[in-house]
Amino acid sequence: MRQLAGNPFGKLKIAGIQFAADEIKLLAPCRPSKIVAIGLNYHSHAAELGYDLPRTPLIFLKPPSAVIGPVDCIVYPPLSAQVDFEGELGVVIGKKVRCIAPKDAAGCILGYTCFNDVTARDLQKEDGQWARAKGFDTFAAVGPIIETELDAGALKIETRLNGVVRQSGNTADLIFKVPELVSAVSQVMTLFPGDIIATGTPGGIGAMQPGDVVQVTIEGIGTLENTVRLAD
Ligand code: MG
Repeated sequence: MRQLAGNPFGKLKIAGIQFAADEIKLLAPCRPSKIVAIGLNYHSHAAELGYDLPRTPLIFLKPPSAVIGPVDCIVYPPLSAQVDFEGELGVVIGKKVRCIAPKDAAGCILGYTCFNDVTARDLQKEDGQWARAKGFDTFAAVGPIIETELDAGALKIETRLNGVVRQSGNTADLIFKVPELVSAVSQVMTLFPGDIIATGTPGGIGAMQPGDVVQVTIEGIGTLENTVRLAD
């Protein structure tokens, strides 16, 4: 692996220093000012919950303090008794944008990453809104990379728990596609470089326990792997 100078939102140069993979710790590949997540955006997930299809994208926020990278642990909070995985395609914004049309959305996307929208399902049901359920520290796992050369229209997406496939979907099953999502969010709030839009999860969501290993794999991007542990 090679060290880069600069950042992916401006100019990047290869600095020349090379490291073996075991000499470095991969961090989250971006630092979002906000994470905008989409609820109920796969036909298969809407079907498993028995919900009608949304007429407009249902958006909610996850705080930047929730972000962890590809080798960090998801911390099981004492306030919850049901912590679920939600494997998702993450869209990484490349430049400041607001009120953009779907046809122009591709120009403001830097690339794509794997995202785990970790959710305290019991608190989500209890609260009626989702700030606690979606907002705990470590509840936004991102990585391992941002793939900048990718058509996100039909990518296989899988979540494994301890090696067993639990979610298996395809971004072709998205109710609202990536350009529509970027446009819809940008009608509400300005998007900044590094912001992430988590595009929703396919069917098959389920609970994790401390000690579990959860992997989100997206075709053309790679695998995001995190271990769940109890809080200190
Ligand atoms: Mg989600």
